[in-house]
Amino acid sequence: MNLFAEQQQPVAIATRRLYIDLDICAEAGCPVCTAQCSYFYHPENNGVRSIAEMAAYQVVCRRCESPHCVAACPTGALEQQPGRGRLLVRHAMRCISCHSCAHACPYGTIYPECVPILHHICDGCLDRRAEGSEPRCVETCPHWALRLAPPELEEDEHTVFVGPYLAVHVTHWKRD
Ligand code: SF4
Ligand code: SF4
Ligand code: SF4
Repeated sequence: MNLFAEQQQPVAIATRRLYIDLDICAEAGCPVCTAQCSYFYHPENNGVRSIAEMAAYQVVCRRCESPHCVAACPTGALEQQPGRGRLLVRHAMRCISCHSCAHACPYGTIYPECVPILHHICDGCLDRRAEGSEPRCVETCPHWALRLAPPELEEDEHTVFVGPYLAVHVTHWKRD
């Protein structure tokens, strides 16, 4: 069956999965992936690499009982998720791009080019909060722009929930 026969049909692009064929990647033998990513302004951040990394964790990683990669990480950035069949996850906010994990894996699962350069994505200071501390930004913003929302907070005209961890308050500009 031709998986891509549906391409002949006008199927909405927005609802279709991105499909990566790692066999093609392996056979092509590109030393560096040359597919371009729309991360235009920060080309060193390449979403294609993150896809390859996720795919490798999902289908190539042997999910070792005592994973050398996790043990080698000096910052606890790599985690095996017991509830997800020991699937690896890299917590990017903790990763310092030292590549120790890539060197430690005896099976070459962690492709060095997939270890991300440092970038910033808020992780909600979940580790600090687990220890009873407020997020660092909450503690340090002198204008009290960042704070922990009360549990009873609800969305309204000017308050929008973004994902499970963030509420944004903004007064919309309105034309008279
Ligand atoms: S890898 Fe880059 S170009 Fe491809 S879908 Fe992700 S962000 Fe877009
Ligand atoms: S050491 Fe390699 S094969 Fe084992 S869990 Fe880590 S990445 Fe997977
Ligand atoms: S590259 Fe990142 S995930 Fe790998 S060992 Fe270093 S800090 Fe840990």
